[in-house]
Amino acid sequence: MICNNLSINEAGHLTLGGQDTVELARRYGTPLYLMDEDRIRERCRMYKKAMREAFGAKSSPLYASKAASFKQLYRIMKEEEMGIDVVSAGEIYTAVAAQFPLERAYFHSNNKTDADVAYAIEHGIGYFVVDNREELDVIDVVAREKGIRQKILLRITPGIDPHTYAAVATGKVDSKFGSAIETGQAEEMTVLALSKENISLVGYHCHVGSQVFDSDVFLRATAIMLDFAAKMKALHGYEMEELDLGGGYGVRYLDEHPEIDIAANIFQVGIAVKAHCEALGLPMPAVRMEPGRSIVADAGMTLYNVGTVKRIPGYKNYVSVDGGMTDNPRFALYHSSYTVLLADRPESDAPKFRCSVVGRCCESGDILQEDVSLPEDVQRGEILAVLTTGAYNYSMASNYNRIPRPPVVMLRGGESYVAVKRETFEDVCANDI
Ligand SMILES: *Cc1c(COP(=O)(O)O)cnc(C)c1O
Repeated sequence: MICNNLSINEAGHLTLGGQDTVELARRYGTPLYLMDEDRIRERCRMYKKAMREAFGAKSSPLYASKAASFKQLYRIMKEEEMGIDVVSAGEIYTAVAAQFPLERAYFHSNNKTDADVAYAIEHGIGYFVVDNREELDVIDVVAREKGIRQKILLRITPGIDPHTYAAVATGKVDSKFGSAIETGQAEEMTVLALSKENISLVGYHCHVGSQVFDSDVFLRATAIMLDFAAKMKALHGYEMEELDLGGGYGVRYLDEHPEIDIAANIFQVGIAVKAHCEALGLPMPAVRMEPGRSIVADAGMTLYNVGTVKRIPGYKNYVSVDGGMTDNPRFALYHSSYTVLLADRPESDAPKFRCSVVGRCCESGDILQEDVSLPEDVQRGEILAVLTTGAYNYSMASNYNRIPRPPVVMLRGGESYVAVKRETFEDVCANDI
């Protein structure tokens, strides 16, 4: 199995966190998101420990909450003493509603509105990760009105493409996010930030990409960022206190995906940061990392009920389920891979057929996965599981076709509980006049 929280019990059913998924589907209905809370906590602890050991006691992980954002997750992050990333006032609202201490929150986004900036400062956001010049101006004005000095990091584009081996000179410089080192804009932003009375520049941030398996991506990013910090110290006398390396560690969606030892990789990055800082005469910064996917993805699973099984002789087979792109738009968006199984007989030795697993939306692109191998005799009423759906599924879900969103059920220590209720039709038209 692709993650050690998955297994098969005596009944031959798929289990998550030791619990029978067929029974969970029966009890809570389908479609259903499951989240293995024990796994989430284990991942938080792994990151915290690894970062402390690699970078020192001041360093810590921030959970990138765009991967999965609802109140209970912020409560868990608070209990695990994690920091968080937020990317909208809606995420700030949710975190505040869950009593998450906002001084440990970092606010991202390439286009924070005036209202977003005011809302965040009003609620005592810890840090802005400033993307651009306009944002810097607005924060300075709002902070002055409030009579505070707002802590910020600057988002820098180091010019790395995480999916090619060589450092690409211009590669990601054309991103909509951040200010590039190469164009001189990162330096301009530094000078501007330092000139603002109500802004305290704490350090720099970069985020090179997502679903990264290349073990040296963080090493390359670190080297570029530290060189830049050394240059800013030499030219402007500015000394960085904090270096945020972003998120991006990959997870296994398929058996053929490699398993990365994240703790070991972080330790390597730690050695590199120390050596580089010494060579450049920089003090060791507090380091942040912003894992999203690698905290929650493999804690998650989605369960569906099989409906129509359609065979088009000489062409293609379709297995339709009672959810689809409304609860998981990732195949439709960017052809993401997933492992798909029948939860009631994952090890069936019935002959297999190739099929597309599709949803029930009025949209041909409503596909959960193509080229899936399922027992040929799969039939209406069986439970189908899509694995590793903890990240960017619930948080990307929609009400297309007025389909209510599934509930999120958390699994903890052999028990289960509802963290997000199933939407009703009334919920779906709650704002209709
Ligand atoms: C999306 C994002 C993350 C999280 O990325 P994962 O791949 O989920 O770990 C972290 N930081 C920033 C700025 C992001 O945009």
